[in-house]
Amino acid sequence: MYNLTEEETESIKFGGKLHPELQVIPKSTQIFVEIEDNYGNILSNYYPLSGDHQADFSFKIEKNGKTLFQGNFASVPGHGPFGNQFPELGPYNIGDSPKYEMDLNLEPLGDFDLRGDLISQNTLMKFNRLQSPHFVFKYPKGHQKHAERLLKWMERYYREMASINGGNLKENVKFVIDIMHAGAGGGKWMAEGYGTVFLGQDLRNPRSTIIPIHELGHVFSFSPPNTYGVECPWFCEQLANFLRILGTEEIYGSKIKKWDIGNLPGLRTIEKHFRENTPIDKGGAMAYIFLRLEKRYGEDIHRKFIEIWNSQRRQNLSPMTKENQVASLYSYLAGTDFSPLFVRLVH
Ligand SMILES: [Zn+2]
Repeated sequence: MYNLTEEETESIKFGGKLHPELQVIPKSTQIFVEIEDNYGNILSNYYPLSGDHQADFSFKIEKNGKTLFQGNFASVPGHGPFGNQFPELGPYNIGDSPKYEMDLNLEPLGDFDLRGDLISQNTLMKFNRLQSPHFVFKYPKGHQKHAERLLKWMERYYREMASINGGNLKENVKFVIDIMHAGAGGGKWMAEGYGTVFLGQDLRNPRSTIIPIHELGHVFSFSPPNTYGVECPWFCEQLANFLRILGTEEIYGSKIKKWDIGNLPGLRTIEKHFRENTPIDKGGAMAYIFLRLEKRYGEDIHRKFIEIWNSQRRQNLSPMTKENQVASLYSYLAGTDFSPLFVRLVH
């Protein structure tokens, strides 16, 4: 569900004959079936009508008479029925490509036979580029509207993160949709998987922006002027999650923030640890500490932490381990000794 904001309008045209075609990102041989209607809408998910009936898209790849893959495309573990990766296949180029055949049986929507060179001018995924004040965004063609919306939101997240981190990054962020995994980010670069960000996602739903914001958190964590210079994953993953949570709160409000906190990996191990003294996840522990500090002292404590962490004053802490430096600095800022909590949860 999505509520239009004031003065925002949305008109939707859809229908007509479907035009399915194979689209390939050569990196890790990522193969997608793009099914457009007459208006250029892309069918991003598909649920077979009866419960125990799985989609069956018989798929075969062969080269010089040798079968490289044969099976049901829809049941390869990947990004759902229309997108999968075959890293063991590649890399192939135009002129050196295997052939493919697919029986795309969409039942009530039609039965389509697709075949040809796996890598060709027709099948190579085409990209468009969008530029905004802080991003250069390269995304698969045909998703203009979603890309514009995502980028508009990324700019808002950027502003929120810059306000916590003490300023804008020195360089624009290069944002590409071409990797096999959900997301990656650091330095001045971030990437998302096409299947994660565009296929089967409603980009108007906060859930769909969790990964891009997390990756932007990594970019802010590692890029000048605010290089945290602290260890992964115990600190950096949780810091990226924490920055993400502040971003979702800024845009969607405190209810979504609570939901987002509930999704944090590892956080439940802390609650269980306090109840039953069970082992804890070190990363989850850091997330717990970030959130406790914010709840009690406000975002400002993190702003001040970052300011000192990047200043000469941090030199005074250099004989300590990184964990102790973090504990000491937060204790100093809060006026309370947090080292017992760090020793119990993070060491
Ligand atoms: Zn991460």
